[in-house]
Amino acid sequence: MGRPSIQQLPKAELHLHLETSLRLCRLADRTGCADTREPYLISDPKLHHGYDRLRRLRYLGRAARVPDSLYTIENIARITEELIEEAATKNVRYVEVRVGGRRGFTLLGVRGMLQAVAEGRRRGARSTGVASSTILTVVRERGPEEALELVEAAASCEECGVAGLDISGDEANFPPALFARACNAARDAGWGITIHAGEFSGPASIWTAIYQLGANRIGHGFRAVEDPELVDYLSTHGIPLELCPTSNLRLGIVRSWREHPLRTLFDHGVHVTLNSDDPILLGATLSDEFEAAQREQGFQDADLERMTGYAANGAFHRDVALAAVGTPAATP
Ligand SMILES: [Zn+2]
Repeated sequence: MGRPSIQQLPKAELHLHLETSLRLCRLADRTGCADTREPYLISDPKLHHGYDRLRRLRYLGRAARVPDSLYTIENIARITEELIEEAATKNVRYVEVRVGGRRGFTLLGVRGMLQAVAEGRRRGARSTGVASSTILTVVRERGPEEALELVEAAASCEECGVAGLDISGDEANFPPALFARACNAARDAGWGITIHAGEFSGPASIWTAIYQLGANRIGHGFRAVEDPELVDYLSTHGIPLELCPTSNLRLGIVRSWREHPLRTLFDHGVHVTLNSDDPILLGATLSDEFEAAQREQGFQDADLERMTGYAANGAFHRDVALAAVGTPAATP
């Protein structure tokens, strides 16, 4: 339970994966497809860490037992609505929902899957007033052709309501240049671009995400702290970092909350935002992140409000997000 002031602060969340299979498991747990333990407890962080651990958690967490029959338009709409309702309980007023699961796209088609998510967002908005957008996530190891196909299919579907492209997955083995065409197609569609970088790889991956792929925001990006020139660049250009500290701890890539570079980056004027990443898989909500930031790194309510302002200003539906959290537009 968060402190009342944390719960009451209006929030915006930019980095939140739908985690389709885990949510479907939870929706239909009578099928017994979910492991009842918190997924992040399943594997030993000493044995597996970084991206290897994330992959392992995803696999074990869903227990590979989600039947295809759970992938229906109605179920996808329901789990999306549920995500919006959860956001509302934390006073998250604007959320960008990331969708990238291959099975959903295969079983329902790209349009079917994204339209179901859009329907869930609409229902969630009606019942809670929370504004939202969809981000299409492509996974690096599935290759550049699949990335481009997904972007083209989603961009040709206005009702799908996609506002941005996210590139995630194995940073080390799939260089950014492979995804230049997918990013160009996304930009042509008027989408924003966010790239998972500076999480499992160092600052070079952030530079290339910005220079080669034209990233408007960086997913994670906390390893920017290793390069003072990059910290200056991010701060001067107001490029938001979507930080997810608990995710970094659970994956064993940062040792403790206290050591997380959030504070250093904030103090250098980088537009840091707080996010939960995969709340079911990693067991943390946005309120938990806000609370830990206060407790472990001494952030005041005004600092957290500033981060929410950074998030709203960096949102792919900026005007909607600014109105939703009631923050004035930043002058860069
Ligand atoms: Zn992520």
